[in-house]
Amino acid sequence: RPQTAAETRQAFLDFFREKDHEIIPTGFPLVPQDDPTLLFINAGMNPFKDVFLGTGTRPYSRAADTQKCLRVSGKHNDLDEVGVDTYHHTFFEMLGNWSFGDYFKKEAISWAWELLVDRWGMDPSRLYATVHEGDEALGLEPDEEAAKLWETETTIPAAHILYAPSKDNFWMMGDTGPCGPCSEIHVDMRPDEERAHVAGQDLVNKDDPRVIEIWNLVFIQYNASVEEASGETVTTLAPLAAKHVDTGMGFERLTAVLQGSSSTYDTDIFAPILQAAADLSPEAGIRGYNDIDGTPEEVERQRIALRVVADHVRTLVFAITDGAQPGNTGRGYVIRRILRRAVRYGYQGLGIREPFLFKLAESVIDTMGEAFPSIVESRDFVTRVIRAEEESFLRTLGTGIDMFEAVTDYIKTIAGYDLSNPAIVEEAIPDVTENLLTNWGSSLRVLEHSFEGDYVSGILEAAKVSRFPGEVTFVLHDTYGFPSDLTAVMAREHGLEVDEARFEELMQEQKDRARAAGSFKQDNSQVDTWDAVHDTPEAVEFVGYDELSVEDAK
Ligand code: ATP
Ligand code: MG
Ligand code: MG
Ligand code: MG
Repeated sequence: RPQTAAETRQAFLDFFREKDHEIIPTGFPLVPQDDPTLLFINAGMNPFKDVFLGTGTRPYSRAADTQKCLRVSGKHNDLDEVGVDTYHHTFFEMLGNWSFGDYFKKEAISWAWELLVDRWGMDPSRLYATVHEGDEALGLEPDEEAAKLWETETTIPAAHILYAPSKDNFWMMGDTGPCGPCSEIHVDMRPDEERAHVAGQDLVNKDDPRVIEIWNLVFIQYNASVEEASGETVTTLAPLAAKHVDTGMGFERLTAVLQGSSSTYDTDIFAPILQAAADLSPEAGIRGYNDIDGTPEEVERQRIALRVVADHVRTLVFAITDGAQPGNTGRGYVIRRILRRAVRYGYQGLGIREPFLFKLAESVIDTMGEAFPSIVESRDFVTRVIRAEEESFLRTLGTGIDMFEAVTDYIKTIAGYDLSNPAIVEEAIPDVTENLLTNWGSSLRVLEHSFEGDYVSGILEAAKVSRFPGEVTFVLHDTYGFPSDLTAVMAREHGLEVDEARFEELMQEQKDRARAAGSFKQDNSQVDTWDAVHDTPEAVEFVGYDELSVEDAK
């Protein structure tokens, strides 16, 4: 059983080399080479799409590799989970083996089992295999063939073979393209006492952080296309000329399991990066990922911040190395948002007030450079790009956070009042309001243009119903570079709802103004794969507190 992450990666590739697979060293670049439907590679099979569809060929019919993946856009978007849970990443490595019209279900299943159980000694009583339960809308029968093979080809307990719906067991790369039913392998990492009380099969695909999916075996048999029929999108499956196997195993999750944990952060993949992040924090109570002082809530908040920062810096290093750069549209905006999210967690969760990601990038390069030499070559470039972007964002972030907190404190105070009490309405509220203006008036004035009428009464009215005004979200976004979903997250942390409709309205107005000015055209071919990218003022860049520059994007 491999001990280190590096040994694990190598052992996987060696196993499939023994099974006559062509090994592709270090996989393919994160930025797709010729697929306009994708911002970033989201699965190991993407670079082979043409082979599955029958429009391309390779000089081999079996292949295996580790593929750099990013799941922050399009059909596969895990951003909201990342940092909050302990097993979804933005950037991760997907170990994969493929058959291009060669072997099919039987070998895929029995080899997966051979590797995990016979070779690496995983305990079958902790493993679960799911199979597709069928789907009437897609015209698909239950995958009894796969269920049968799990029974005959492996030693899995019969009760651990579970039927599951398309959501989990019909794999699609996007809304269109190669797809098929799949069998997922899940591992139950709970201690035995707990396993005795609650059956593992009840926790598969239920977001329990200790019962996690590690490997997906996809039986690619169809090409999906979509049609609009009476207002609805209908997916149609056309059988492919050949049947293929596409498997994907999360390398970080596998490594965690082999190292005895269900958290990918408790592995030698993340430990050095997390330690470097903790060392960069000026907070004396943050000594390491597993060594933080404070109440359980505070500790968890800081651990989340460490996870976000450690996760996102890997994304930045690999995406920038492979050709993406922070920018205002499409791919560039995805990168910019990831960087900003990391800076914001560093700022709020770890107390870091200066550029730090560029230093953390060094630790990623030191940890992963041996497996991926390209990041060593790009070291200077990557750290320079990250540093410049951090510097410009930090300048605005601090001011934005101060404003957010002033407004939020005010709203929470007002929301806590009994509005039916005349003394409150006549005295307390005007006092608090005056206080706000005395302390923050000059920085709040930037809100003047987004509210209809007087911004102070606008905030007050929202405060009375515990709502964070969409106008403020807009200004935070527009002037201080806060993505609207970050503001929503921050507001929710304070028990406030965000007025998203108003925010959207202001965004639309701004777009209309910019369009009327005729000063840019937008490249929409890819951006609508990520909701948040709609939110961007396509090419409106922060240049100062009062001024917006509309530059020509693309
Ligand atoms: P999950 O259900 O946990 O979100 P998934 O079914 O979306 O995973 P697949 O598309 O089947 O994932 O990808 C194949 C494998 O890649 C998964 O079995 C898992 O081990 C790994 N994986 C998927 N998403 C992530 C992620 N965001 N971070 C790390 N590993 C991942
Ligand atoms: Mg997923
Ligand atoms: Mg899944
Ligand atoms: Mg899966």
